[in-house]
Amino acid sequence: MTDFSRILAGGPETTLIPGPSILPDRVRAAMGRSSIDIYSGSLLGVTARCEAGLREVFGTTGEVFIYAANGHGAWDAALSNTLSRGDKILVLQSGRFASGWGEMASAMGLDVEVLPRDWHSAIDLDAVTRRLAADKAHSIRAVLCVQVDTASGVSNDIGALRQAIDNSAHPALLMVDAVASLGTMAFEFDNWTVDVAVSASQKGLMSPAGLGFVAASEQAMEAGKTAGLRTRYWDWQARNTTDHYQKYCGTPPEQLLFGLAEAFDMMAEEGLPSIFKRHEILKQATQAAILAWGCVGATANVTDPKTSHLRSRSSTYRMNWPVKSFRFVVTVVA
Ligand SMILES: *Cc1c(COP(=O)(O)O)cnc(C)c1O
Repeated sequence: MTDFSRILAGGPETTLIPGPSILPDRVRAAMGRSSIDIYSGSLLGVTARCEAGLREVFGTTGEVFIYAANGHGAWDAALSNTLSRGDKILVLQSGRFASGWGEMASAMGLDVEVLPRDWHSAIDLDAVTRRLAADKAHSIRAVLCVQVDTASGVSNDIGALRQAIDNSAHPALLMVDAVASLGTMAFEFDNWTVDVAVSASQKGLMSPAGLGFVAASEQAMEAGKTAGLRTRYWDWQARNTTDHYQKYCGTPPEQLLFGLAEAFDMMAEEGLPSIFKRHEILKQATQAAILAWGCVGATANVTDPKTSHLRSRSSTYRMNWPVKSFRFVVTVVA
């Protein structure tokens, strides 16, 4: 350890990464409870609270599913519930995470084509329209992308992507990873006609890792009826029930649900517009501070000023280490 890190190690441990993010005291306190009846009683209200909160942040009145899983589990759930071995899918690269989802799809036996992109720009929407228009036989069954790529710090405009897909009059399902972004910026599942969106508990939703989420459109639910990759644990059709135990395909992760319900109560008190604005202000403050370190080699991945609005609220920067010393003060004036 350097002197610097030995001195700082005396304080409370704080990890500042996109996720797991900081747990508010209220969320931690809500989890410090004994287990309760898993079949009936007040836990049903906790599940209902979590589902209502998810519908609000996803922007949907449709189906949402809660898994005892992380974001990778939600990726698996999205693919296995809608597709069959050998189906072709198109992965829209924009950093690391869409590629990771595509690698999982390959391992599951899907035929994955990647529309390549670098780490500095959002998805090329015209290229999407061209590629889908060229698929006259409609052999591409789904298009996979991320709203925010946590590694490159790039955010994609999902409403504009839906328009690009519609311009090609192609019926592929649109699947969006909102693991890093849900709860920090708008997601409009119904308005953008997204078919499947996935997320997880430990980033914008201020909860511990361990819950994976999926929202599914009617088309996605329909595709699920014949999906050959369906397995019993992830199966939407089996979980789409009022039987509380079956909703989780077994014992619900109770304490994680207590925490998530509390996080949604906190978000309701603050209001989504204020939360989004708070994240935007903190993003701009952080970016301004770090870009000022350009003199010591810091750069944002999205370097083109014309597209700087595409820098996401999870900020990733590259530095030419070692930086010998720095002072970093951000004052946010509300
Ligand atoms: C964190 C993250 C994931 C993976 O989530 P895990 O809970 O670690 O499995 C997937 N996609 C994006 C964009 C992420 O930021």
